[in-house]
Amino acid sequence: METAGTTQNNKDQEAGLFLASFIEFNTKERVENMPELPEVENVRNGLKQLIVGKRITGARVLWPNIIKDPSVTEFKQRIEGQEIKDIRRRGKFLLFVLSRDVLISHLRMEGKYRLEGPEVPLTKHTHVIFELDSKEELRYLDVRKFGKMSLVEKADLDEHPSMRSLGPEPTDDTLETIYLIKALKKTERPVKACLLDQKIVAGIGNIYADEILYDAYIHPERKGKELNEDEIKRLRDSIISIMNRAVEKGGTTIRTYANAYGAEGSYQECLAVYGRTEEVCPRCQHTIRKIKVGQRGTHYCPQCQKAGRE
Ligand SMILES: [Zn+2]
Repeated sequence: METAGTTQNNKDQEAGLFLASFIEFNTKERVENMPELPEVENVRNGLKQLIVGKRITGARVLWPNIIKDPSVTEFKQRIEGQEIKDIRRRGKFLLFVLSRDVLISHLRMEGKYRLEGPEVPLTKHTHVIFELDSKEELRYLDVRKFGKMSLVEKADLDEHPSMRSLGPEPTDDTLETIYLIKALKKTERPVKACLLDQKIVAGIGNIYADEILYDAYIHPERKGKELNEDEIKRLRDSIISIMNRAVEKGGTTIRTYANAYGAEGSYQECLAVYGRTEEVCPRCQHTIRKIKVGQRGTHYCPQCQKAGRE
């Protein structure tokens, strides 16, 4: 974590209710690409308890680049007066279901929501403010400003560019073995890159990709087309079980925030390889290694996850 973020987060901690799941490990390794599906799911649960049933009476946009579409002017006009009916999730996207439209929100690296009174001073990282009829404000904060929001009509949601190419959710009902076999068998790319590809499966990021491959005994650099059907079946089972378990645990929380609604996850206690370079493999006692696969830091056990076919 860079210094600016850390300083801000210390300040934020004092301020109270926070809907985020970020990370500071007991290792010196840099954390990449948070949050993933389980952390977004956790934020969704927190938001649901806090804001469903409330009406948006106005919006202020302090950093226009956060709003992807429509124009900032139209965004503000259209969202005004709409009630928050539900909070859903698709992949790593939060979906605020409103009276007429859906607000699609992607937190990217460091986006977070915070509900507070209008009297609480804004921080320099507050970029979008939704005023609510409860006299509270839902504020979007983002140290890196990578997050994006779109406002779309409900009927157009599935065809929105951020939604239409997303692969299935990593659940038993939606991720079919036959689909995964087809998707992997046609690609030369390393399986780690395939897991990160939101078009193949939605919601997996760097942490859970490493944990899934470890669980499935598959080397992260093996090409999709080199995996046999049994391995892909095993991979599917690991995708589903690791993601389910991470959702149950509320995701991975490495930096701890005060949050009255349990948004702090505990999956960090379950991580077998991620962030554990040079530590001992829990299964075979071999040393866990870190390599780069497609630019991404990748943790694996060279003993349990062999490079060649079994
Ligand atoms: Zn091992």
